[in-house]
Amino acid sequence: MTTDTIAAVSTPRGKGGVALLRVSGDRAIEIAERVFSPQNGQTLHEIPSRKATYGTVFATEADGARIAVDDALVTVFRAPASFTGEDTVEICCHGGILLTETVLTAIFAAGARPATAGEFTKRAFLNGKMGLSSAEALADLLEAQNREQLLLAHSGMKGRTEAESRAVYEELRHILASVYVVIDYPDEDLADMTREEMTEALAGCAEKLRRLAATYRTGHAVAEGIGTVICGRPNVGKSSLYNRLVGRDAAIVTDVEGTTRDLLTETAALGRVTLRLTDTAGLRETGDAVERIGVERARNELETAELIFAVFDGSREPDEADKALAGELRKVGGEVVAVINKSDVGADPKTVDFCRMLCKNVVYLSAKTGEGIEELTAVVERLFTDGALDLKEDAILTNARQHAAVLRAVENAERAERALREGYPIDLCCHDAEEAMAALAELDGRAVSEELVSEIFSHFCVGK
Ligand code: GDP
Repeated sequence: MTTDTIAAVSTPRGKGGVALLRVSGDRAIEIAERVFSPQNGQTLHEIPSRKATYGTVFATEADGARIAVDDALVTVFRAPASFTGEDTVEICCHGGILLTETVLTAIFAAGARPATAGEFTKRAFLNGKMGLSSAEALADLLEAQNREQLLLAHSGMKGRTEAESRAVYEELRHILASVYVVIDYPDEDLADMTREEMTEALAGCAEKLRRLAATYRTGHAVAEGIGTVICGRPNVGKSSLYNRLVGRDAAIVTDVEGTTRDLLTETAALGRVTLRLTDTAGLRETGDAVERIGVERARNELETAELIFAVFDGSREPDEADKALAGELRKVGGEVVAVINKSDVGADPKTVDFCRMLCKNVVYLSAKTGEGIEELTAVVERLFTDGALDLKEDAILTNARQHAAVLRAVENAERAERALREGYPIDLCCHDAEEAMAALAELDGRAVSEELVSEIFSHFCVGK
């Protein structure tokens, strides 16, 4: 199959020491040859793979004349030993904005077309260089904002999720092979597994898949982030806590009630996990129209939050507004952590009792001094992660797509197992086992729709 040749600048746009342009496809070497000449007199076809070669980069004038515009290092990767699996040429020139555009234009003039977002990685996936979960991990790596996300994404890129799912896939295939033998030759003892062994093997597969599915709790908390809302009546220290968690003065802190009117959202790393943190207007009845909208939005956020930091002022007794908030919190589905703030001033016993009544997770904190953040971290990690998982080593699901595929595999593997265990005709388990395999093939991308693939890669940047 021939592919058209694509090109893009893979480094971010802007002035920099160096820029990297990538050309990939059947004609990559021939096209690059038109814009680059090695200093040693060889042609690009002659230079060895994966070896940086120094030379001159040329642009093409309107009249077709070639003019030298830069010196560069060029590396040729020959198919299939390249990132995309195709012939690829990487041109490392200086990082001027006009310069890189000029070189890219010359590459297009020589016959390449502009790469779309994520197209290099998409080709890597389509050419079997990486599974879909690994490609997603690569996107996560580029987006990583904290250390844990980095470790998890890097580990995911190594294909651990695919390795795990492939192992179960092969096991299911092995079991199915025996099932088919029994179906085809019912009277002979040819299958290499007995019905009991098949049942146990299916149970083993289902268990492995359940364990894999369970890793999403941690993967979600680290990679996607926990949807977290800070709420409380005005002046308890919500904005102070928000700023403390995001590590800068993002929200306005004053002792004037009703200062935070709109929702502020940012991500913040808290220990191993990431919070998608929203600071809300203090929930209170108010005559101010703008603040009232803020309060309404805060209520909506509460309903959908996965985690709620309910902040109370430890320096005083609970008041009516605190009680009203507690009433609201009894209706929400997310995990609630009661934060007794201003503990540098004190912890009023009535507020402490009130918080203990409200929920089982109570943390003493001072947003002012930072005391108590470790305790808060520990509580959140306990609620949202599995401490036994190693982000660097274990297969961990990191997005909803992967989770849904594994859940579907679990469900079907369990159904297949039940069909065998409960003595149904043996062919009844085939459909379910095959469905489980199909779900796993979807997880690593061997069987996914073209739209889904396009959708996933469209989130990449151009040049990746
Ligand atoms: P919000 O209205 O709930 O967002 O509260 P703010 O964060 O704006 O804080 C209200 C007031 O309480 C400000 O004067 C803060 O300086 C003060 N405050 C916030 N957290 C603490 C704390 O932990 N200790 C003490 N002593 N004061 C705090």
